[in-house]
Amino acid sequence: MPYSYIHFQYYYVNSAGFSTGFVPKYGKVDEDGISFDEETLAYSDLQAVSSHKKRLAIQLLPTAEAPEEIGKHIIKDTYAVVVEVEGDSIIEAKKLLVQYLTTYQCYQRKTELEREGKVEDFRAEQCPNCLALLDLSYYTPTNYIYCKHCESIFDKLRQPLPHSENYRVCPDCDYYGRVQEHREFSCYAVPKDRRLTYTKHEFCDTCAERLVEQTWWKNALYLVGIPTTLFMLLTTKETPSPLYAEMTKANRYAQDGKLQQALDLYMLMTLRNEKHPAMWLNYGLAYLAADDTEKALRYLKKSLECCSNYQPVLDVLAKYSDKEVPL
Ligand SMILES: [Zn+2]
Ligand SMILES: [Zn+2]
Repeated sequence: MPYSYIHFQYYYVNSAGFSTGFVPKYGKVDEDGISFDEETLAYSDLQAVSSHKKRLAIQLLPTAEAPEEIGKHIIKDTYAVVVEVEGDSIIEAKKLLVQYLTTYQCYQRKTELEREGKVEDFRAEQCPNCLALLDLSYYTPTNYIYCKHCESIFDKLRQPLPHSENYRVCPDCDYYGRVQEHREFSCYAVPKDRRLTYTKHEFCDTCAERLVEQTWWKNALYLVGIPTTLFMLLTTKETPSPLYAEMTKANRYAQDGKLQQALDLYMLMTLRNEKHPAMWLNYGLAYLAADDTEKALRYLKKSLECCSNYQPVLDVLAKYSDKEVPL
C-alpha cells in the first residue's frame, strides 16, 4: 500500500442531501478504521463504502453500534453516513478505505471457512488497478475477474482488458460502452418562468447522442445552449477504441428495438473480443429489450462463463432469479 493512513477534511451531508456546517471537520483513514473527529468506525462495523464525485458514503453493518456524534448523522431510512470531502483527497481516502476494508473482509471470510473446515474454498485476488482484495470464494475460476470497486476487468495475469479505458457500464442505460463526463444544457421557458439548467454528469456515448437529438432544437431556440450541445456531440464523436468501434451504434439499435442490426454489430465486435464479459452483457440486454428473456438469460450466462463475478450481469440475473437459465 502506498500510504498507511490519510487525513481528510469533511462536512456531514444531511438526509436532504445538503452538506452541513461552515467549518470542515477532520477525518482519517488508517488501519483501525475511518475516524470522524474523535470517533472511529472500525472495519468490523462497516458493510460497504462508495463514492460519487466529492461524496463518500459509509454503509454500516446492521450489527454495528454507531458512536454518538456519527449516529446523529445517519441518513434517514438507511444505516449509512455520507460526508462531503474537501479538496482532492476523496480519491485516495476511498481507495485506502476500500483496501483496508476488503482485506479485513477477506480475512473474516477465510477464518469463517477455516472454522467450517472448508478453507480450500477460499480464493481472493487483488485488483491491479485499485488494489482492493476481491473475495472470489465460491466463484468458478474464469478467464477474467471484475473489480466492483473501480469497475475494471482484468485477466488471470492481472492485465486489464486492452483499450478499455473509459469503457464501463453506463449509469443511465446499463449497457457497456464509453462513459464520459458530458455537460448538459437545458432551457425551459413557460410564461413567467424561465429556467436555465446546466449540469455535468457521466453517461455513455449512446445516451449522449440521444440527448443531443432531443435537446438540439429546443436549445437552438435560445442559442446559448448550442455550444454545449455541440460540445457533447463532438465528445461522442471522438475516436472510440478500435476494439469497440461499433459500440455506440449497436447499443442504440438495441435500445431502439432494432434487434437484428444490433446483433450484426455485436457479432463484429465479438469476433475481436470473444471472451469479453461485457460483450455478452450487451447481447443479453438487447434480447431483454426485445422481450426474448430466454435468449437473454443464455447470453448473460455466457458472460459469467468469461467472468464469473461480473456484477452488472449478476445484478440483471437477480431480477430474473425465478426464471430457469437455459444451458
Ligand atoms: Zn479495482
Ligand atoms: Zn448510456
